[in-house]
Amino acid sequence: MKSNQITLTFSSIAENVSIARLLIASIGGQLDLSLNDIEELKVAVSEAVSNAIIHGYKSNPNNIVYFNLEITKDSLIIVVRDEGCGISDLEQAMQPAFSTDPERMGLGFVFMQSFMDELQVDSKLEVGTTVTMKKHLKQTPISSH
Ligand code: ADP
Ligand code: MG
Repeated sequence: MKSNQITLTFSSIAENVSIARLLIASIGGQLDLSLNDIEELKVAVSEAVSNAIIHGYKSNPNNIVYFNLEITKDSLIIVVRDEGCGISDLEQAMQPAFSTDPERMGLGFVFMQSFMDELQVDSKLEVGTTVTMKKHLKQTPISSH
């Protein structure tokens, strides 16, 4: 797989979750990944982008979500960043079934953690949140096709 880098910025509206999903599905289809892997990538991306919109920006549509994909020789790196409210207690926020919204399941970070090989969350109150997710890629020899 060639190295690649894609940066997308979009308005913080729910409709754009599907745009991010389409992009990751397209990239996933170019990589040596199973359909199940691609489904999992789509879920992880949806959760991170939804969190940026719903929690980071409190569903205010007049903000920007920053989405970055990078393919290196051995990994796919996805970064979802918002300049929203930030997370006051990150350890608590990442606990399974914890949500600041009683209507929600609190499983977004659980899915990101279990579907990706690495998850890193950096957050600062009133500054924003950056979610970095990494998927390790097989290094297939060129002669395999
Ligand atoms: P849920 O979205 O169902 O609440 P998550 O596991 O996705 O569960 O997130 C847990 C909690 O972490 C959220 O309820 C929210 O309080 C906080 N959180 C997650 N992402 C962000 C973000 N980008 N900005 C601010 N808070 C966030
Ligand atoms: Mg969530």
